[in-house]
Amino acid sequence: MKNFICLKCSKEYGLNEPRWKCDCGNVLDIEYKYTFDISKLKNRKNNLWRYRESLPIEDDNNIISFGEGFTPLVETYYAEKKVLIKFEHLFPTGSFKDRGATVLISKIKELKIKNIVEDSSGNAGAAIAAYSAKAGIHCHIYVPEKTSKNKLVQIEMFGATLHKIPGTREDTSNAAIEASLRSFYASHSWNPFFFQGTKTFAFEIWEQLNFKAPDIIIIPTGNGTLLIGTYLGFKDLLNQKLIDKLPRLVAVQSDKCAPLYKMLLENLKDFPNLSTQETISEGIAIARPIRAKQIIEIIKESNGMIITATDEEIKNSLKDVCKMGIYLEPTSAIAFAGAKKIEFSEKDIVIIPVTGHGLKYNYQ
Ligand SMILES: [Zn+2]
Repeated sequence: MKNFICLKCSKEYGLNEPRWKCDCGNVLDIEYKYTFDISKLKNRKNNLWRYRESLPIEDDNNIISFGEGFTPLVETYYAEKKVLIKFEHLFPTGSFKDRGATVLISKIKELKIKNIVEDSSGNAGAAIAAYSAKAGIHCHIYVPEKTSKNKLVQIEMFGATLHKIPGTREDTSNAAIEASLRSFYASHSWNPFFFQGTKTFAFEIWEQLNFKAPDIIIIPTGNGTLLIGTYLGFKDLLNQKLIDKLPRLVAVQSDKCAPLYKMLLENLKDFPNLSTQETISEGIAIARPIRAKQIIEIIKESNGMIITATDEEIKNSLKDVCKMGIYLEPTSAIAFAGAKKIEFSEKDIVIIPVTGHGLKYNYQ
């Protein structure tokens, strides 16, 4: 079974249709059955394509890869609690978004598409631009005008055409969707192939913990790119009886833009009216995350929670983590701010990803 399936009306489509949403307008997921053989896994190369049977690309010749993934999992103490930090900033473009880009761009190559559009606050745009460059695909990246200069430079250096859009993050998305009428929308929040890539985050943790699930994972959350992927990966492992529980997923949002937090807390069926202010965690300032319902269901199913952090708390965590010798961007620091706010014991295995590199942010 290999299909797109609509999360609202359950309509199915074949994976070789150039499609990014359902005809009803809703988001799609991918239904894909496979099984891991642990004895085979152990002998494979240390990159995320070691989970090849879980990645729905038909022909190996279409794989666009820089040998990315299998990032280090480093045990340390943070705020006097033992945690494991996953070094996701060590990807080729400096963020975990390369997980999604390697799979999505491989599929786009398989579909023989030559021209794509994507909208991003920076990291996803850089990842899509880099893998497109390797694949010989031309991409147009739409970014909010206020995105960090370093990220814009990176996107342009990869040869993508950059479109700076004034106004809100939603204005940027709308401009990209409008452009997708003439091209293919390689969206990291709409396109389910992107989440097929981010699910490898779960497989790596499972393998690095000697084939066990951790207790808690704390994730910066805007569109839910990493959170949803993490869930999909652990859910697949649970379905294969390779783990016996889902980890508790903790989503951390900026208190200046926390639609998911409010939707869960107040049991809202739709987005709250937010007057979004600027925040230092620019990568997750998403007022209307299109997969909001899916994210909230995941939080409930994993017995997790959504919490918020202030810019002050994020800045303090940023300083703490940099003083541990780890250079990260402010959006990543929010997960560490979250770790200070939740309770867990010495026995709990707690994972915190460094989602983006400090070199990507203009600190001056
Ligand atoms: Zn539908």
